[in-house]
Amino acid sequence: MSLIVQKFGGTSVGTTERIEAVADKIKRYRDAGHDLVVVVSAMSGETDRLLGLARAITDQPVPRELDVLLSTGEQVTIALLSLALEKRGCPARSYTGSQVHILTDSAHNKARIQDIDGSRVRQDLDAGRVVVVAGFQGVDEQGNITTLGRGGSDTTAVALAAALNADECQIFTDVDGVYTTDPRVVPQARRLERITFEEMLEMASLGSKVLQIRAVEFAGKYNVPLRVLSSFEEGEGTLITYEEGTMENALISGIAFNRDEAKLTILGVPDQPGVAHKLLGPVAEANIEIDMIIQNVAPDGGTTDFTFTVHRNDYPRALEIVRQVAGEMGAREVSGDDRIVKISLVGVGMRSHAGIASEMFETLAREGINIRMISTSEIKISVVVDEKYLELGVRALHDAFQLDQAPQQ
Ligand code: ADP
Ligand code: ASP
Ligand code: MG
Repeated sequence: MSLIVQKFGGTSVGTTERIEAVADKIKRYRDAGHDLVVVVSAMSGETDRLLGLARAITDQPVPRELDVLLSTGEQVTIALLSLALEKRGCPARSYTGSQVHILTDSAHNKARIQDIDGSRVRQDLDAGRVVVVAGFQGVDEQGNITTLGRGGSDTTAVALAAALNADECQIFTDVDGVYTTDPRVVPQARRLERITFEEMLEMASLGSKVLQIRAVEFAGKYNVPLRVLSSFEEGEGTLITYEEGTMENALISGIAFNRDEAKLTILGVPDQPGVAHKLLGPVAEANIEIDMIIQNVAPDGGTTDFTFTVHRNDYPRALEIVRQVAGEMGAREVSGDDRIVKISLVGVGMRSHAGIASEMFETLAREGINIRMISTSEIKISVVVDEKYLELGVRALHDAFQLDQAPQQ
């Protein structure tokens, strides 16, 4: 008998019929003798609907109140799923995040889990019940409701699995595993049987929304066996693992992309020690995360240019801050573009192979796609291109690196 934490995403619980199908699936696992903790998301579209309600009232909702609102979506699904389980003769209890003491920091809308007290969950498991927990939410030390950022139910599931020392954490979603790239963009994308934590972490942080990045971080840190599976079909899914040795022998494991990018450029900044800090410090102080940064020295030698990228949601505020600071510093010009995207190749195989970057650049050039920025690390290469080239670029790279075919062993 094993303890499994299962998470069902928004599409998987999108209608009462689907919730009943999820209850059937859970009952099958229960009847096979497993202890189950089940984490659910809000019904698909519900979190966006709630956000829309808040925005109809104000452009800048108070983060604390937004969390009170957004957390209601998951409270609906835990109750409906528990009703469906009870109807099947499968004893179940639903809990909000605060009821099972998912303690987070107080960073509303993007809180981090600090601790989980598993005792209440264990009592229910010992009494033979399925425990159904609301994803995406927690409570801070002062008792305020917090949420964990979009896609945060994945993290609730992995954190519970770590806290309860579960045998496996299963993420059930609307695809049957992690693919070489988003199958909605490249229909030829191939399901991976396994992927390393390291690669999954890169894929998630570079924009693959199949798993929330913090969920992968947690799973890696606490060594939680993590599997992505389909809610609708049977199958093995994708195992996220440490075992690099048994991996497919691939150079590139996948292609991630991020549509939420925007870039800012400051031209003609007087080139002195401390300018990067003066320009970018105020952006960071406004809690805006900066991703790629490029600094160039202009031909005249006396000035320098900066380009950096931020999340598209932060673009208007970042532009405002940079315009002001650049003005004070006597920079020549500030410009920006929020119609850019980032495409990244990810693979641990890159460590031992040269030439992947040049093949990537050549492929994009062949398609007439202009690269605006480049950044690399040991296991990834990212380029920023115009938004209109996203699909073309991802498909061309998927083709060029033959990701639709299983690599040779
Ligand atoms: P859920 O609501 O179950 O959490 P998400 O929409 O958050 O589901 O995540 C699943 C989606 O992630 C898929 O429908 C797919 O479009 C997208 N996706 C992006 N990149 C990948 C990838 N590499 N492999 C599989 N799915 C991906
Ligand atoms: N309901 C939340 C969202 O839509 C959390 C989740 O689904 O993981 O982002
Ligand atoms: Mg998700």
